Amino acid sequence: MNSKEYYQKNKKRIRKRNNLYWKNNKDKKSVKDRRYYIKHREYLIKKSQKWRINNQEKRKKQSKKRYILVQIKIKAQRLAQKIPLKKSCEICGEINNLERHHWDYNQSLLVNTLCKNCHQIQHIKYFYDSYYGRIL
Ligand SMILES: [Zn+2]
Repeated sequence: MNSKEYYQKNKKRIRKRNNLYWKNNKDKKSVKDRRYYIKHREYLIKKSQKWRINNQEKRKKQSKKRYILVQIKIKAQRLAQKIPLKKSCEICGEINNLERHHWDYNQSLLVNTLCKNCHQIQHIKYFYDSYYGRIL
């Protein structure tokens, strides 16, 4: 068996192991990524341009989806303005920089009072993989 065959046969396992390695060596990865980018810059730019041209429908759908999510969020925030903030953060008790935290933007009146710091932590903890992981 040559190395190519070996790779093909164990593709999943090797990829998994490599991904784990780069995950644990993030600083090395950023150097590697930068080097790769510099070396293949033109190719990468062309590739992304090509993708954009070939996937216009997909891009339209994505931006439409994002637009709807933002609308839901804005509506929920507007409705929640009427709910008074509590005197302190419900997690740590901080009294400065208080914000309303939505657990679900479809339930606009379900909010808790959190300080800025706890609010960010909640978003990273529970919404990181979703669009809502980022606080706009
Ligand atoms: Zn807090």
